[in-house]
Amino acid sequence: MSGVQLKNIRKSFGALEIIKGIDLEIAPGEFTVFVGPSGCGKSTLLRMIAGLEDVTSGALTIGGRDVTDREPSERGIAMVFQSYALYPHMTVAENIGFGLSLARRPKAEIDAKVNAAADALQLTHLLDRKPKALSGGQRQRVAIGRAIVRNPQVFLFDEPLSNLDASLRAQMRLEIADLHARLKTTMIYVTHDQVEAMTMADKIVVLNGGKIEQVGSPMALYDRPATPFVAGFIGSPR
Ligand code: ADP
Ligand code: MG
Repeated sequence: MSGVQLKNIRKSFGALEIIKGIDLEIAPGEFTVFVGPSGCGKSTLLRMIAGLEDVTSGALTIGGRDVTDREPSERGIAMVFQSYALYPHMTVAENIGFGLSLARRPKAEIDAKVNAAADALQLTHLLDRKPKALSGGQRQRVAIGRAIVRNPQVFLFDEPLSNLDASLRAQMRLEIADLHARLKTTMIYVTHDQVEAMTMADKIVVLNGGKIEQVGSPMALYDRPATPFVAGFIGSPR
């Protein structure tokens, strides 16, 4: 299992500094939630960890290895996005296994991994369906399945449930928490939703304006908010 370390990470787009010096230590196996208002830099930070965005300065290690200048494929991560972007002409099984097919893995290995992921996500009975025959929650589970088969050291989620309605969101929160309990993989989960953060996290990182306001367990943030911003943000229901 791999932890993640961020050392004085900064990001500028042109003259505008968006991420203003983030130091953070994520322990192996921890479920960490980045929470904060829209535009505070959550996605940018996650995309830098994924390698989809260069860091302007600072260093990033995953599993003790400096990956600051590594390609996304060399980082041992898999990312799940808000828009699940499944291939409409492919079955669930083909969607889940597509990355492995691209990597020219043997068919027996692909089948075994797809079946294991489908089992973990209760998708086994849907493997032959096309995405249009699935519910929103089932589609999102397929997207998570695509991440699982890559056997990542670290899962990265960017607001994966924002497109779902409230009851489905609540159900998927439990499913992702359950997945974490079974896989015990390091997971970093971005949301602007305080309820998601409070109910899912081992550790919450509250971001505001490209900086960390506070890091702590949900109870610690609730009981001892370090700033009025944290108190207001954690305390205010959606
Ligand atoms: P969040 O995910 O917290 O809503 P983002 O990380 O998407 O925030 O964006 C943080 C800030 O960076 C926003 O002001 C956004 O407009 C800006 N930003 C994000 N990506 C780019 C980009 N490629 N070019 C310029 N500005 C960007
Ligand atoms: Mg975002």
